[in-house]
Amino acid sequence: MQPGDVRIPAAELTTFAAAALEKAGAKRPHAQAVADHLVASNLAGHDSHGIGLLPAYLKHSREGLVDVNAEPETVHSAGAIVKLDGHDAWGRVAGEAAMKAAFPKADELGLCAVTLSNSHHLGRIGTYGEMAAQEGFAALFFVNVTDHDPMVAPYGGTDSRLGTNPVCIALPPTGTKPAFLLDMATSRIAMGKARVAANKGLRVPFGSIIDSNGLPTDDPSGFKGFEQKGALAPFGDHKGYGLAFAAELLAGVFSGGGTIQPGNERRGGIRNQMMAIVLSPDAFGDPAAMEREMDAMWDYALASPPADWDSPVIAPGDPERALKKRRSAEGVPLDPETLKQLNDAAKAAGIKRQLG
Ligand code: NAD
Repeated sequence: MQPGDVRIPAAELTTFAAAALEKAGAKRPHAQAVADHLVASNLAGHDSHGIGLLPAYLKHSREGLVDVNAEPETVHSAGAIVKLDGHDAWGRVAGEAAMKAAFPKADELGLCAVTLSNSHHLGRIGTYGEMAAQEGFAALFFVNVTDHDPMVAPYGGTDSRLGTNPVCIALPPTGTKPAFLLDMATSRIAMGKARVAANKGLRVPFGSIIDSNGLPTDDPSGFKGFEQKGALAPFGDHKGYGLAFAAELLAGVFSGGGTIQPGNERRGGIRNQMMAIVLSPDAFGDPAAMEREMDAMWDYALASPPADWDSPVIAPGDPERALKKRRSAEGVPLDPETLKQLNDAAKAAGIKRQLG
């Protein structure tokens, strides 16, 4: 929370976003699902994938870069493989459809590899990981991002050639532990985090951005609004670059939706392709023994003496759970620039109501 920020209850943000999306032509269940998804990202602390994206989504609907009422379609289903074409539907709608197509196969066969092509922005991938974990499945997600210019420089390069290609790994809760949820961009910081920092006039960690001369910087101003000058750096040097590259290939090639190479169209929207591998733990061994081992490993890792006694070791997924609890009670903080972008976008969409 910065000086000038306001806190707005999640329910008010959801109603606002759903109304604007409906005004843009989305049918009510789609508008509600997308609005819920955006605000759930804010609650989880990922403002980069929260309601601040609404102006971009509304712009995409005006420009035909998302088909506001499209439904994804299963285009291939054989054995443990299922493929969906998102037909430019809202990512939240297409992502849930992919999960629902995978779960019965994973139940029956022990695992399912599902691909999704041509989906509008899937947003926070952890949402689909949570869907799998809540149903008792483990799941691995590899996602690429197309339909616009690349954003991330390959390790050793000086300009963008990759997307922020998120990777997510989810495991179901045990009797005593919550779900394990690793959900991350393969860039050192997510694109939206650079935008949020630029909107707030803040710096980002040095080297997480490469400026338009190819030099490392901590200045995110090239990412203000929705413009992009410069490139994001991959996390973990050559290792993050390798993972981003792998996500590009697994999601873009196997789904048939394509990679970010320039032979594929770049209309100025956001498309995601996804490869998700859904696993049924029951097919791999005795569920009780597996849970005991997971719990023991969890306890062991988190018992490491903290480097900073005020910050004990936590598990992937813990920060999001903690913030969700807090923000659900206290409201979602929004900075003045994001608030202005939201109110301007809603006004342009014909919504009288203003936030803040
Ligand atoms: P992040 O760096 O905030 O967190 C990454 C992961 O690290 C999370 O699983 C988190 O629980 C875990 N974590 C954070 N602090 C921790 C700690 N101290 N100890 C243990 N674990 C910890 O996330 P990010 O890389 O900025 O990604 C943000 C979001 O952006 C994700 O939800 C991702 O799916 C989304 N994203 C989406 C797209 C897309 O095209 N749809 C592209 C890029 C990113």
